Amino acid sequence: MDYSDRVLKCQDCGAEFVFTAGEQLFFHDKQFTNDPKRCKQCKAKRASGGSKVRPETRTRCAQCGEETTVPFKPTQGRPVLCRLCFKQQSASAQQTLVHDARQGQTPVQVPSLAQD
Ligand SMILES: [Zn+2]
Ligand SMILES: [Zn+2]
Repeated sequence: MDYSDRVLKCQDCGAEFVFTAGEQLFFHDKQFTNDPKRCKQCKAKRASGGSKVRPETRTRCAQCGEETTVPFKPTQGRPVLCRLCFKQQSASAQQTLVHDARQGQTPVQVPSLAQD
């Protein structure tokens, strides 16, 4: 089958973008029946920051026992701290948590060496 580039309009930003012959062939191969609805930028945007919902895991703070939620899956055997304890911890053990502390108040998993 012959394909030629087509100009489509992005559903998100309204910009026109080219649905190339190659992409049409790809769509045909994959048996996609719908035209793409978004330009590349909008597609990339949706892929990266589209869903802002972070997976939150309920857990208990290893230090004070408060229940807290963390935006990551805690690894077995590693203590998880609530925001408050994390703040204290990061103040006293900056060298181990520089990377995570930069992200502000987000609770992080403390490297096992901090456990002693
Ligand atoms: Zn767009
Ligand atoms: Zn705590």
